[in-house]
Amino acid sequence: SSAVTSSTKIVLNLESLGSLPADEAGPLARYASTIQAQRHDYNGKVLSIRAEDLKSLAIIYDMSPDELTTRLIEWGVLSPGMESVVGFGGD
Ligand code: C2E
Ligand code: C2E
Ligand code: C2E
Repeated sequence: SSAVTSSTKIVLNLESLGSLPADEAGPLARYASTIQAQRHDYNGKVLSIRAEDLKSLAIIYDMSPDELTTRLIEWGVLSPGMESVVGFGGD
């Protein structure tokens, strides 16, 4: 089954993200920084992002969204037990 569905809430661990090598995590770190700046949300340890944003990031990383999700879990940026949002999406 798919690692990410339309009902999965994506919560990035910013502390893990900050400790990764810049050559791999750089694009994701810049994307997260941009969202923080747009929201004026600078002090969090985590950042909830849109499901749409994962699709954009997958294009940036030239992976499928599922492949990117697996990579983010390996990096410790996503929790393997991601919380589901009740009441959105199908399946
Ligand atoms: P918290 O800030 O005390 O928020 C507790 C819960 O209130 C959140 O649980 C969420 O259900 C709701 N909530 C708070 N702010 C908003 C909001 O702007 N919009 C909506 N729709 N709901 C809101 P959740 O999402 O499980 O988050 C748990 C905790 O994780 C939050 O506690 C916060 O400390 C942190 N967190 C999650 N996402 C972000 C984020 O994007 N930025 C920051 N700075 N912290 C976040
Ligand atoms: P926007 O998309 O026009 O959203 C305006 C406001 O609607 C946001 O102000 C926020 O208060 C609320 N909003 C929109 N979608 C959601 C949502 O899914 N959950 C919650 N909790 N609130 C939502 P805010 O947060 O000050 O963001 C300002 C602008 O920054 C947004 O304007 C958008 O252009 C950008 N932005 C912020 N966070 C994200 C993000 O996670 N992804 C993307 N792609 N853009 C974001
Ligand atoms: P959330 O606030 O609990 O919102 C859950 C889902 O409800 C969002 O999933 C989106 O499908 C829908 N939703 C909530 N508010 C709005 C809105 O104003 N406009 C629209 N069109 N849909 C809305 P999504 O997009 O995957 O976002 C996941 C989480 O990312 C949100 O959970 C929120 O924590 C965060 N987020 C996304 N966009 C923004 C934003 O612009 N500003 C802020 N502060 N947080 C955002």
